[in-house]
Amino acid sequence: MTTQLGNLFILAAPSGAGKSSLIKALLSKAPDVNFNPKQVSVSHTTRAPRPGEVDGEHYHFVTREQFEALIAQQAFFEYAEVFGNYYGTSRITIENTLSQGIDVFLDIDWQGARQVKALMPDTCSIFILPPSTETLRERLVKRGQDEQSVIDKRMAEAVSEMSHYDEFDFVLVNDEFSETLQELSSIVEAQRLRTAKQKVRHQALIESLLSAE
Ligand code: GDP
Ligand code: ADP
Ligand code: 5GP
Repeated sequence: MTTQLGNLFILAAPSGAGKSSLIKALLSKAPDVNFNPKQVSVSHTTRAPRPGEVDGEHYHFVTREQFEALIAQQAFFEYAEVFGNYYGTSRITIENTLSQGIDVFLDIDWQGARQVKALMPDTCSIFILPPSTETLRERLVKRGQDEQSVIDKRMAEAVSEMSHYDEFDFVLVNDEFSETLQELSSIVEAQRLRTAKQKVRHQALIESLLSAE
């Protein structure tokens, strides 16, 4: 694939570590003219909507049959089974968005992250750790969106998700939210300045500088 101006970012974490909140806060920050527009990728899932979740906004909610039909059509950039449900990222949406120079954020699990890294090695992957196991449980409880049995299942999966932290380019410990958000912003801003991106963005300038007598 040719270099696209949009950057692809992956955020992964155990459920409740704060990745959705961080992505939301990052996207709602006043856009800086020097930086790329940003979008979060809306995944397809077979999980049931939580109270307040809107189809097409938080997820595209589909049945298992519909999801399997999409797999057969190769509609997914990546997909995985997480907590007993399918989750997947639409291929066409990612490609179209990146080619418009928009940065795309994927909130996906480690299995999906591995698939994306293999397909697009210059993807920037970030793993979010909670400051402690107790804090992780407290956040899941306080979020008030999942039943106790679902929380127990997610806590049981947390260690296995976290054991993949060192497959990621960056690791953030989400203790103080504003500090983590600042760290995340720095990573995002720096990605835009990578040589491969600057080469495309400033092609005319670089050609003129290199051809100068
Ligand atoms: P959260 O952990 O509270 O954000 O709960 P969610 O139900 O939103 O997500 C459940 C799991 O599915 C998490 O591990 C996500 O990272 C993962 N996930 C969400 N969307 C995708 C996706 O498009 N692809 C993959 N591979 N995983 C996803
Ligand atoms: P995830 O998307 O990783 O499952 P969320 O973004 O839904 O996690 O965060 C889980 C809960 O923890 C939410 O209620 C959120 O408001 C809260 N939260 C996230 N980050 C912090 C933080 N640094 N300090 C305190 N609470 C946080
Ligand atoms: P939740 O059910 O709490 O919305 O999501 C549970 C987990 O699924 C989270 O860790 C989230 O990152 C992951 N997830 C959500 N969408 C996708 C996706 O499209 N692909 C993959 N691989 N994981 C996803």
